[in-house]
Parts: sequence; structure tokens; C-alpha cells
Amino acid sequence: MENIQTIDSVCTYCGVGCDIAANVDIKENKITKIFAHPDGVVSQGKLCIKGKYGHDFVESPNRLRAPRIKKSFLEKNPSIKNAIGSKLKDFDDTWYECDLDTATTAASIKLKEIQEQYGRKAVCSIGGARTSCENSYFFQKFTRHTLNSPHVDNCARVCHSPSLKGMRTTIGEGAATNPYNDIYNAEFMIVIGSNTTEAHPIIANRILDVAREHDNLAVFDVREIKLHRFAKYKAIMPHEANLLVLNMLAYVVIDEELYDESFIAERTKGFAEFKDKILNDPYANPDYFKEIAGYEDMAKTIRKVAREYALKNSMIFWGLGITEHLDGSYAVMAITHLALMTGNIGKSGTGLMPLRGQNNVQGACDMGMLPYYDPDYQEPKEVGLMTPQLVDEMIEGRVKAVLNIGEDLTHIHPNINKVDKAIKNLEFVMVQELFMTDIASKADIVVGVKSAYEKTGVYVNAMRRLHLSQPLVQSDLPDDWEVLKQLDNKMGGSASYTSSKDIWEEVQRVAYRRFSGADYHRLEKHRKRGLQWPVHTEDTPILHQLDFRTEDGYGRFHYKQYELRGMVEEITKKTLSGYHLTTGRTLAHYNNAAQTKQTDSLLERYPEDILLVCEDDAADFTSDKVILKTEYGETNPLTVKLTDKVKPKTLFVTFHHADSRINALFGDKCDELILTAAFKSVKVEVINC
Ligand code: SF4
Repeated sequence: MENIQTIDSVCTYCGVGCDIAANVDIKENKITKIFAHPDGVVSQGKLCIKGKYGHDFVESPNRLRAPRIKKSFLEKNPSIKNAIGSKLKDFDDTWYECDLDTATTAASIKLKEIQEQYGRKAVCSIGGARTSCENSYFFQKFTRHTLNSPHVDNCARVCHSPSLKGMRTTIGEGAATNPYNDIYNAEFMIVIGSNTTEAHPIIANRILDVAREHDNLAVFDVREIKLHRFAKYKAIMPHEANLLVLNMLAYVVIDEELYDESFIAERTKGFAEFKDKILNDPYANPDYFKEIAGYEDMAKTIRKVAREYALKNSMIFWGLGITEHLDGSYAVMAITHLALMTGNIGKSGTGLMPLRGQNNVQGACDMGMLPYYDPDYQEPKEVGLMTPQLVDEMIEGRVKAVLNIGEDLTHIHPNINKVDKAIKNLEFVMVQELFMTDIASKADIVVGVKSAYEKTGVYVNAMRRLHLSQPLVQSDLPDDWEVLKQLDNKMGGSASYTSSKDIWEEVQRVAYRRFSGADYHRLEKHRKRGLQWPVHTEDTPILHQLDFRTEDGYGRFHYKQYELRGMVEEITKKTLSGYHLTTGRTLAHYNNAAQTKQTDSLLERYPEDILLVCEDDAADFTSDKVILKTEYGETNPLTVKLTDKVKPKTLFVTFHHADSRINALFGDKCDELILTAAFKSVKVEVINC
């Protein structure tokens, strides 16, 4: 096996950011096997099935190789066709193929035309978080400086933006406070709104190890999940009750005087007002659950959980089950209140752990791929619009072009019928992608780019750990920054980077408050342990040890009273009717499954989005397949599976397959502060097929 070389890198899927090792046939330029790095601090010897088997995408025949330009686009833009016509090769009825120079020339002509005619803000950039920090940084810089448009956003808009908002408001930093291995030092753990074994399996391994040994886990979710089996306190809550439950936990801590007075006095401001509000909130007493038929036990459970949480070194984990709600940001604030009141922050075995979604979603935000932050969370000169606002601007005709790196807007965003309409209304869409995803198929120019396993770059995982990824195989495709550099230069910019390292050196200067000491050499040296930002002479495994990262160093309370709505309201008022749907992920796929469905074993394991229905509701489901419908749109027929894991009147479905059209069900209802879609609860009509 002399051709086989083992190369270290980082998994390209979820925010856990497992350290992987790959056997690579150097002669064939092919990954033959991926396994957990033997010294992996994150993976600890195990990968989930996505990390282990989900690498076939790299050499998939479906990869986008040469850039493509849509024929209909050139018919509408004859001057562009005249400028590049000789470089075009017929590909099929829809597309021409061309080289990168031709694609970026066409794009730059169109972008200039649009900005001259409609103004600089008629162009926006929306990125996914699958690409590296270097690419994210350059994408926002190109947009803000060369295109001079403030409109740049990333896929955190549909996942953890409320975590950033809620945590920055209360403790000044929107990131996990502790390393994963602190789980082993926790005396008590709460998991709320996270199906961790499916979505973040390698973190779930640690939680399960500790829970099995110490019986110290509380799990809150709207359906029964695997973690519940190992939980001391197993709570299945009605939809839209997160803030209710979290405020109740705080109420018990206050009512029973379980809070840490000296921590509150030394490290926080605003507690007296918070205490007063919570004690006078009609919904904060857990006894309220006694009125919610079917969920009466919650009152007792909440009291017990609050006591253990307050009196022990405790951690809280959450996922999109918290953030993708109307009150997502407030629920995150309510989580931080618990830590602030009890001193469960700033030391080992405690802390706040938002389980970030994509492999570099933390990094994409750190790099300023957000409309309201420059890199390093500095204030931008001009605040841009968030994705849902941009979609409205597209429909209104004020935004005319979108540049997109790996973000399947017409699949994973809400209200996809509306997004489709918005995209159709544009004069120009350019997508940098690995595959012909749904949004790529609707674009005017699509450029195939290197995957994470073919390039060098920094990724920041869900515990702020920087990992310098190196290519496992060679590819002659451009990296995202190489496409952007051509575009930048043709649009009048002066980017002169010759490698991702050049970009990272600039990141270290611009985003010095977090990354000044994290050069490639040092990241390479610390590849095994990784470095957690802020990285200066030392790195920072635990945040907030001496003070919070707010302006004055104090933690803040921002009480928000729960507003009765949704399923809780219906049960309270005895009007429960119809079905409440929640959505989520499955272990075999990641988001739009662009990469995972290229691996046969993963696709076979989960070839379609399945609708889970409570066995008690079987009589309403007379067909094997049903269509779900709301006022915003309907799904394609979905296969029904009866289960005892969801409560009556509750449905669950994944959204990985574009042809299911799950996100057509969601309208514009979103977190009121940060516009993250309320994907976790929608009332649906069921139509038997
Ligand atoms: Fe990859 Fe996440 Fe699985 Fe780890 S847990 S192997 S990072 S998908």
C-alpha cells in the first residue's frame, strides 16, 4: 500500500468539527477511507456515519466541473454574449460551459450594469457556512468594499443567529463558553431543543457517557428522542413552550432562593428588576402546567431540574429547537439568565453550549458575513439587510442580483414559494457550489469550486476551536477565493491574494481581538489540540472566567415574559385542533444533503423525508402518503410512519430532500429580533393522497 498516505483534516459536515484522518491513494488522487484521528481531541476515536462514509461526494460524477452560463441569460443579455461568445461551449439545452475567466467576465459586466442602473445596494451576497473562514472573510470584504453594498448575510440566519443575539445581549459573546470535554466535569446537564444524537452525535457521545455513569441529565424536547432514554428528567413539552419552561426554571431558582448571591452581585447587573418581573409573571410559576392537559407532570419536573441545575456545576446545551421560534433570541437570553443567576458560567463543568449547525457557521459569523457586524463583531459603517428582508427587496425590485456561495436559498430557507418568486424577479444570480443544487439550477452562472477536502483553510467549530484544514486530494477547481479574486479585480478591486494563507494573515490583522495569535504555523503546530479563540499568546478554552465580554464586563438580565400562543394556547383554552408540525434533521444527512446524498449508503439509509405521526392519530391518516398544507404552500406527498415517539396532534418531518418542499409550509413568521424562521412549529392541514 505504498500509494496510501494518511492525511489529517476536519470533517466537512456539522459544527462539532471532528478531527479526521483520511487514507488517500496518492497515485489515484482518491480518498479510500476516513476515520477518526487517533489523537483526535474532538472526535475521541469516533466519527458518525456522515463523517466516516460521506466522502464520495469528492469524486462524484455529479460535481460541477467547468463553470456554466445559462443560455436564457445570454439571450436576455446579448451584449454579454457578444463579449464572451467565442469562449462558450454548448453543454445541454439549458447551459453553456466556459472557463473561469469567461464566467467572471460575464458576471462582472452584469454586476456593473445592475449597479449603474439600480444603485450599489441592488446587489447582495448570501453565503453558506460550509466554506472556510478565508473565503467567508473575502466574500464579505468583496461585497462591502468592492461592490460597496452592505447586504451580506449567511446561513446562520436560518439557524443560530438568535444564539448570537441572545448571548451577546446578556454576556457579550455569541459562542459556546466551554470545551466539549468539560462535559466530563459537569455535575448536571440540561439539553433543550437539541436532538443531539442525530444532529451533533460526537457531542452526544460525551453527554451519554456522563449520563450513564452519573444519572445527571435533563432533556426537554417536543418529541421523544434518543437522549430521553438516558435522562434522569425526561420532559416532552408542547410546541412553543421553550420560553415558558426556561422562565419557569428561573422562577424556581428565585422563588426557592437557590441563586448565587455573590456571583450575581459581583458579575451581573439588573437582577433585582429581573427578579421582580419574574415573580410577578402569571406564566412563570410551573404550576401553570397543571392547566395544560397532557403535560401536567412538567410542573414537578421543572422544579426538580431547576434545583439540581442551581445547586450543581451545570451545563446547558441547545440547538435549533430553541432558536427557530418566534421567541428564539429571548429563549437564548432566558438560558443565559439561568447561568448568570447560579454562577454556572466561567468555570469548568459549567457553561452555555449552543450546538452550532454547519462546520464553519461560527467562523462565518466571526468573519463578518453578517449584515450588522464587520469581522470580529465590530460595528460596520453601514448596516445591511438580513436575508428575509433581502427576499422582500427582491420581490419589490430593489435588489436585482445575488451572489451565493453554497447556500441553497430555494431549499432550506422558509417560504420557498416566495423565495422562488424573488429569485425569478432577479436579473442576475451567481452561485459557487459543488453540485447543481436547487438554487444552482435557478442561477444564471454557476461555478464549481473546491470542496473542503480539496483545499486549505481555517474552520471554527461549535466550541470556538480553530482547525487548519489541509487538502486530502488535489483538485484543479478554483477555491471560492480564487473566483472572488477574479470578480473583485474585474469590478475594480485590488485583491492580490495568492493563497488562503494571505487572506488569513489579513484576518489576523483585522480580527485581531480573536485571532491575532492564530497564524497558520501555530495552528499547524497545535493541530492536535486545536486553539480556541480568542487566541493571542494563549488561547481561551473557557470564556467569561473573570468578566463578561459586554462593554462594562457585567452580565445582563433582559426579561421577556412568555406570550401565550400556538399549541400551548390551544391546550390551555381547550381548543386543540389540527396538527402542529416540527422539523429537524436525521443522522444520515446534512441540511440540503448536497454532499451526503452522493454516498449511496447514506442515501439508502434515508432516501426521502418521512413524516412521523402519533399512533393515536392513525385514523386521520388513511393513506400511506399525505400532503401537508398551510396558507403559504404545500409539500409533495410524504410517506407516513406511525410512531409512539411523538405526542398526539404533533407531527415531525425532516427537510433534507428538495423535492419534498417542506419549507413551502413556512411563511414569514420568524424571531422578532433577528428574523430566523420559526421552523419548529407550524400548524398544518393534512391531505391524504
Ligand atoms: Fe462530522 Fe459532525 Fe459527524 Fe463529527 S459529528 S463526524 S463533525 S458530522
